[in-house]
Amino acid sequence: SSPFDAERPLALPPNTSLERFKDFMRQIGDIVGSENATVISSDAELQHESYMDPSKAYDMYHITTKEYLVSSAVVAPRNVPEVQAIVRLCNDFEIPLWPFSIGRNVGYGGAAPRVTGSVGLDMGRNMKKILEVNTEGAYAFVEPGVTFIDLHDYLVEHNLREKLWIDVPDLGGGSVIGNTVERGVGYTPYGDHWMMHCGMEVVLPDGSLWRSGMGGLPNPNADPNAPPHEQKPNDTWGLFNYGFGPYNDGIFTQSSLGIVVKMGIWLMVNPGGYQSYLITFPKDDNLHAALEIIRPLRVGMVLQNVPTMRHILLDAAVMGDRKSYTNSDKPLTDDELDAIATKLNLGRWNFYGAVYGPKPIRDVILQVIKGAFLQVPGAKYFEPEDMPDNLVLQTRHNTLQGIPSTTELKWVDWLPNGAHLFFSPIAKVSGDDGVAQYEVTRTRCEEAGFDFIGTFVVGMREMHHIVCIVFNRKDPSSRKRAHWLIRTLIDDAAERGWGEYRTHLSVMDQIAGTYSFNDHAQMRLNEKIKEALDPKGIISPGKNGIWPKGYKKEDWAI
Ligand code: ADP
Repeated sequence: SSPFDAERPLALPPNTSLERFKDFMRQIGDIVGSENATVISSDAELQHESYMDPSKAYDMYHITTKEYLVSSAVVAPRNVPEVQAIVRLCNDFEIPLWPFSIGRNVGYGGAAPRVTGSVGLDMGRNMKKILEVNTEGAYAFVEPGVTFIDLHDYLVEHNLREKLWIDVPDLGGGSVIGNTVERGVGYTPYGDHWMMHCGMEVVLPDGSLWRSGMGGLPNPNADPNAPPHEQKPNDTWGLFNYGFGPYNDGIFTQSSLGIVVKMGIWLMVNPGGYQSYLITFPKDDNLHAALEIIRPLRVGMVLQNVPTMRHILLDAAVMGDRKSYTNSDKPLTDDELDAIATKLNLGRWNFYGAVYGPKPIRDVILQVIKGAFLQVPGAKYFEPEDMPDNLVLQTRHNTLQGIPSTTELKWVDWLPNGAHLFFSPIAKVSGDDGVAQYEVTRTRCEEAGFDFIGTFVVGMREMHHIVCIVFNRKDPSSRKRAHWLIRTLIDDAAERGWGEYRTHLSVMDQIAGTYSFNDHAQMRLNEKIKEALDPKGIISPGKNGIWPKGYKKEDWAI
């Protein structure tokens, strides 16, 4: 008998009888211990509502019914051999696994699986060591459960922040590995997390263990009798990404090909000085001019970090809910938006950036930045000292130097029972493109009865345009409109040649379908690789629209 015998999951894995599932769970219990496995057997498990206490089994921000995208069980391995044993067991039983690290992938599905009844693999609960912080090489190696807050706290506690900074996303509670493999971004010069990763250890779908790049070369001082995951890695693993031969790291991002158990991430050397700033633009149509100014400065690296151009409502929503600004239930008009901007002493668009380095360097760079942006009529420049009550500027001041927070959670409460989806197309850094995306997305948001809330996140040569679709998760009409909106925007965007960089579980198939060049050459290659590495389709079936052979995609349409 096993502690799981009496429990019936809300959703069984596909093609799996209750008896077989019980047999599976008995063996899972033998691997991880019964305290590290939970069968998701009742609605009581589906009551999580807060980022601070996120669900490990379903999507708190569901747009379908909450039972639809739910795991049959959640299993938390304690070490790499247990991960390998679980993967092998899943192959034997042909039961799909959905790995996640923390489950705070909010706006994109959280910890929920794409295939109902998959077994959630909670990598973060027990495997959360900071394995190394290398000050000379300026990198760290972490396990899946290490959050940005953990890594930052570690630097502070070990008096290392004078030497090294991390880069953080808007919310610091997610894991370094989860965010990086999803190709998430932050806002310092190291904002492209994937660009800054170096060194991965991955459990492959057959249960074997792989190290990327220079990790393929044994360290002569390693103990060859130690199990592979414990062998001292090559000294250059965290220093050089590419190693020798094909560079495979990328196939483990937004991927269903492996479970990342260790990863290296480059840290930024403390630049020896820092100044954050805000530049406000009073008019909606200043966006065009501002983006034209950003492009040469960013490509030319005068703008050293990943700055953001935020719509007024994103800032307003951090500082108050919708009710605090209006009684209207219609999307806010331009006049109302102007009034909110005036009230908050902000622009219709607000640009948050920072300069890095000793004072003489900062002064010169800031002179160029001000000289360029302040040519826009009405544009104003502020530093955090100028606006002690501006919660967004005070928070960005920390975020842009890699100090994590959770303040930006607040905009989700714009509506009662607030939940959100992100619609995230890539845009050229150009006035024409940015304004066109703003117009198309704002018009559709308003058609769906929502306010436009969004931001342009400026990468090296493009912008991640993040449209925050805030809806009321307890109102079926609101959920339905949000779903309609994102589906419609994906098609609107594809017609214009715009594609998304990442998405929620519910629309992965649709977006994958838009990347259709040459009879879906990308998907055909993805499917071949999937078939070669994971013939039974054990890991994350359906993720990013890639379905294993044994699945009929139509059966899983949302
Ligand atoms: P966060 O750490 O930000 O909370 P999640 O844990 O929700 O992020 O992970 C987001 C997504 O990233 C998961 O759905 C999964 O596809 C992928 N992922 C996260 N951790 C791992 C991992 N250790 N191995 C493989 N994929 C992972």
